[in-house]
Amino acid sequence: MVEGCELMGTTLWIVDINVDELWETPEIKQAADYLCKGEVIAFPTETVYGLGANATDSQAVKKIFEAKGRPSDNPLIVHIADPKQMKELVDEVTPVGQQLIEAFCPGPISLIFKKKEGVFSELVTAGLDTVAIRIPEHPVAFALLRAAGVPVAAPSANRSGKPSPTSAEHVMDDLNGFIKGVIDGGETGYGLESTVVDCTGEVPVILRPGSITADAIKEVVGEVIVDPALKDEKEAPRAPGMKYRHYAPDHPLYLVDGTSELLQSFVNQFKRDGKRIGVITTRENQAKIDADAIIVMGSQADLSSIAHSLYDSLRKSDVLDVDILLSLCFPEEGVGQAIMNRLRKAAGNRVLTQADLAK
Ligand code: AMP
Ligand code: MG
Repeated sequence: MVEGCELMGTTLWIVDINVDELWETPEIKQAADYLCKGEVIAFPTETVYGLGANATDSQAVKKIFEAKGRPSDNPLIVHIADPKQMKELVDEVTPVGQQLIEAFCPGPISLIFKKKEGVFSELVTAGLDTVAIRIPEHPVAFALLRAAGVPVAAPSANRSGKPSPTSAEHVMDDLNGFIKGVIDGGETGYGLESTVVDCTGEVPVILRPGSITADAIKEVVGEVIVDPALKDEKEAPRAPGMKYRHYAPDHPLYLVDGTSELLQSFVNQFKRDGKRIGVITTRENQAKIDADAIIVMGSQADLSSIAHSLYDSLRKSDVLDVDILLSLCFPEEGVGQAIMNRLRKAAGNRVLTQADLAK
């Protein structure tokens, strides 16, 4: 018998990620067995927690969309354990795709290729003729994929619109009672979803920024295009999911483009209007801010520490007794591009500048 606590039908398996041959442990074998039988299971990856289903089984994939409340025109990323499986799933691994596989897989990157017809449930690809494939490097994700032996479609394991989960607790907060089980492998590392790269052409195109940066990709393949929609709201994004509001905290979030002194001026201005203010900020800026509540999110000197704790901070802000949340913008260099992409969506694109301060 596998040890696990049954919570309203959702099993929580706690696993030790340092165990050798994790794929042979009873917890992973049971979770893989459920996957193969058409159930959905949440599991940790190095980016965020994923909600997995057998990508070849439409009934199973449908359960992902139902549990998340995800729009059906938003395709899912397919996860595999080994790049050798790629040729059974895609029409052609293009030369740039091959270079990116060799440089970054396994790792936090999803690569889009023309799909092989008749392999995936149509729900996975939302009717597109392409498919996004990812080879995660997290030991639990690898073990589950290896034990299941099927390609696993897995979006982030949150209710649609909410911040992505970076711990099993976040998954349980959103999906307890709606899914078969959650494998708890501790906090995720990077904390932001994978970089999504269209590899169908000669030059790769970044459709969603992530921890593998445009510069890192450029270094490998020489040239990279960033989807113009990531910079210009008026452009239609090439990744269908990028058009939706995401990561929204319960209280309205405003970004402040400026210094911590400018942020403090906005705190004071909102307070004069009788509002209670929560501020999400870094360790370095904490002492400079006087607000009703402050959440500290990583260090200014290390953008990856901010990526790691961004979603946890947004989720923590939901329980604050405040009316409005404020956060400074971050430099859009390296992983800062992904952080600002997620923060802008979380804020519904509300960015305050000096010009918005009442005279
Ligand atoms: P999530 O599953 O929430 O991490 O989101 C996956 C992202 O990848 C969404 O923005 C999708 O729209 C995008 N995506 C997945 N498959 C494709 C594809 N074949 N073409 C373009 N974008 C895709
Ligand atoms: Mg998501």
